[in-house]
Amino acid sequence: MSSELRLKKLRGSGGYVMATVTDEQQMKGNLGGPDLFLAPIGRLDADKITKHFCNTCEKEFEGPPKIEFENPNEEVAENLILAERGQYICNSCNASIAEYRDFKKEDEAGEVGSAKPLEPQVQNAPQPEVAPQQVSEVAATPETVTQPGPATSVTSIEGKMVFDENANKIGTAKQVGIDSTQSMVLVITKEDGTEGSIPWNSIKKIGEVVLLGSPEAAPQPGKCSSCGFVNKEGSKFCEECGNKI
Ligand SMILES: [Zn+2]
Ligand SMILES: [Zn+2]
Repeated sequence: MSSELRLKKLRGSGGYVMATVTDEQQMKGNLGGPDLFLAPIGRLDADKITKHFCNTCEKEFEGPPKIEFENPNEEVAENLILAERGQYICNSCNASIAEYRDFKKEDEAGEVGSAKPLEPQVQNAPQPEVAPQQVSEVAATPETVTQPGPATSVTSIEGKMVFDENANKIGTAKQVGIDSTQSMVLVITKEDGTEGSIPWNSIKKIGEVVLLGSPEAAPQPGKCSSCGFVNKEGSKFCEECGNKI
């Protein structure tokens, strides 16, 4: 592959940067639409960035934004390591222009052993408008997508409405993050537009929406663990599917 560099506009959630990118980076940033996104690309060399635009300042600035990153190398889900998280930050107002997370699998040997190329295609990417961050995670860890649990949620959570246990909408899921105590959290945009974070373990269920509440622990004594049918209390077998309760 040629390493030809092209000047491209790379969009983030709070602005964009103009940067020279390689073909490979261009491919990563292309989510199928006309625009290229910064989040799937991850960290760029600052000297490749010529300009940045901050949505908060509504202004284009010469030169790169601040790029802050750290490498927590923290296990955030089974066999899923948060290798690096970073932010492109406006020099002028400190607003976030783009964020990225690079995840990797803990089981490196497994990855090496499988003949898959490290760089997956981003074919099943959602519309470019949603979730550049989450696509980055999909791209970085394709194997984890099929696993149940947080790893799955990581890839598909953005944009889902978040409801509390009383079915009140409290906001919209933004991304999976890590709080100051290094715990996994769900970052949400609240109804009033501000950001908030919810401890990962207070998420009850992720489906069409994100439901908060105490973790799945069958509240009804007769509830079938297999099909979910609520049987009479004290039942030994499920009326619906015959499963032992
Ligand atoms: Zn700004
Ligand atoms: Zn059943």
